[in-house]
Amino acid sequence: MTSFKEIYRSAENIISGIAAAPGIVIGEVYLFTKEKLEISKADITDIEEAKKNLHEALEKSKKELKKILAIARERMGNTRAGIFEAQLMILEDPVLLDNITNRIEREKKQPEYIVDDEISKYQDMMFLSHESYMKERASDIEDIKNRIVRNLRKKRWQSRIKGEVIIVSDSLTPADALLLSRNNIKSFITDHGGLTSHAAIISRSLNIPAIVGTHNATQRLKDGQKIIVDGFHGYVLFDPNEEQIAFFKEKHEHLVKLQAELEEVSDKPAVTKDGKEIHLLANVDVTGEIDIVKTSGAQGIGLYRSEQLLDETGTIPNEEEQALIYTRLASRIYPDSITIRAFDIGGDKFKLFDYDEPNPFLGLRGLRILLENPKLFKEQIRAVLRASVNKNVKFMLPMVSAIDEINISKKIIEHCKDELTSERIPFDKDMEVGIMVEVPAAAVMAKEFADATDFLSIGTNDLIQYLLAVDRGNDLVSDLYQEFSPVVLRTIKKIVEDAKSAGKPVSLCGEMAADTLAMPLLVGLGLESLSISPRTIPYAKRIISSFKYEDAKVMAENCTKCCFEHEIEKTIQKFFEDNQIIRTRNII
Ligand code: PEP
Ligand code: MG
Repeated sequence: MTSFKEIYRSAENIISGIAAAPGIVIGEVYLFTKEKLEISKADITDIEEAKKNLHEALEKSKKELKKILAIARERMGNTRAGIFEAQLMILEDPVLLDNITNRIEREKKQPEYIVDDEISKYQDMMFLSHESYMKERASDIEDIKNRIVRNLRKKRWQSRIKGEVIIVSDSLTPADALLLSRNNIKSFITDHGGLTSHAAIISRSLNIPAIVGTHNATQRLKDGQKIIVDGFHGYVLFDPNEEQIAFFKEKHEHLVKLQAELEEVSDKPAVTKDGKEIHLLANVDVTGEIDIVKTSGAQGIGLYRSEQLLDETGTIPNEEEQALIYTRLASRIYPDSITIRAFDIGGDKFKLFDYDEPNPFLGLRGLRILLENPKLFKEQIRAVLRASVNKNVKFMLPMVSAIDEINISKKIIEHCKDELTSERIPFDKDMEVGIMVEVPAAAVMAKEFADATDFLSIGTNDLIQYLLAVDRGNDLVSDLYQEFSPVVLRTIKKIVEDAKSAGKPVSLCGEMAADTLAMPLLVGLGLESLSISPRTIPYAKRIISSFKYEDAKVMAENCTKCCFEHEIEKTIQKFFEDNQIIRTRNII
């Protein structure tokens, strides 16, 4: 029987990247570009023809936008769909349209030039605004310009979104990935980005196979080209031959069957062969994912990335809106609990403020931004407290690097509690407040940080980045981003031991927990709770039930003595072989 290795060894039609979200897809390329189109300023002779083209392009753009608006309303709710409504209003603005038509008649220039120029004036006005909200909207308007220009050139654009396509793009912001995923997207491929870039995380949450860091896929692939995406190994095959198609079709069918089998274990606990139960919680990255959490067999939500609300809406929901969202989530998951993480903004995530930072990952990010903006922080705390009445809500602080930050945050929380009490608004007086351990400072003094808080959650995505000084989203250094680095392992071991000696619960919610290869190691290091993407939970149960905790402990101990990543990987691989554990990769 042909193997993956053989297929890839003999393939010349291959592009390689980093496997970011598992799955196998055969489909057509859709080149998604946000590059500015070259605008032609050429003179025209037939004014009537130009006006007719403009009219058709505007109608087509409106039709497309209405479709997008309908999808957005259905999947994001009315408020959040507002950005598209605003775009539609601009398209229907009679003053703008009159200006464009008059200028075509007067200046006799290509309509695309006039459209670009007129809409740019709108944008300039917004860019000049002091409000960051308006500035954000100015970028949205870029989309309208591109849409009209494309339609003037009779190029296909949004119509493609109707079909099932594979998005190939230079890079994707979390918002891009989120919005695109609301169409019928089969897979994402990006030239840039690493395994833990937020676009990759969102792909995994939405179960959309993805490959990142392909360097030049956007140049090598063409719109409409047939390709195979292997999100398990990180390869793209373009213009596949019959043998390749047959091979991957069979793998795909096998995968569908496997998925059904895994769903059967969803209501069973994750217990090792010698009876140690591991709590599997879910990471929730996008609204709507809560439905999958309920069916995945998770025992609660270990990480709710609240900054997603900003990504989706492009604005900050107020206290009322947040309270409603959190209350709904908490009641859906009840009697299990939800850990709501305070807005983790900055870094490569949603930019809410216009801080000019040369190095945003080391700048105002996470809790630092919140402490700089107490109004924003307080509104969120009040909303979270209001959602905590049934005592199943925990609150978690991101990017903590000093105990002082915890103490100040706790004071603000206490102040919010006093306010709510005097307003006679009910909340859980004992709501637990924990921290993410994702900065080396918090790891080095984990015992003291644990003393100052109710629980710890290890965020390996950032912890690895900061420990090893490797940008988590930079494909140029992705081989240096090693989750099995001895430095990472020894640090995790220390955090777990410190938390235990402080008598505080510790879990791990970085992507490492979802790596099936890492699971026995993490269990062996003493972690009793892992928070992972809900889709990975059935796989995790299968793996955890195939080994003994006592054996995993020995293996983990051996790993922490190693000095090299390859030694650690070899030790883990051997553990898998000795215990005959089948990994997803091996299964397909
Ligand atoms: C982490 O850093 O591991 C984490 C879970 O947080 P995020 O990926 O949202 O930065
Ligand atoms: Mg983080």
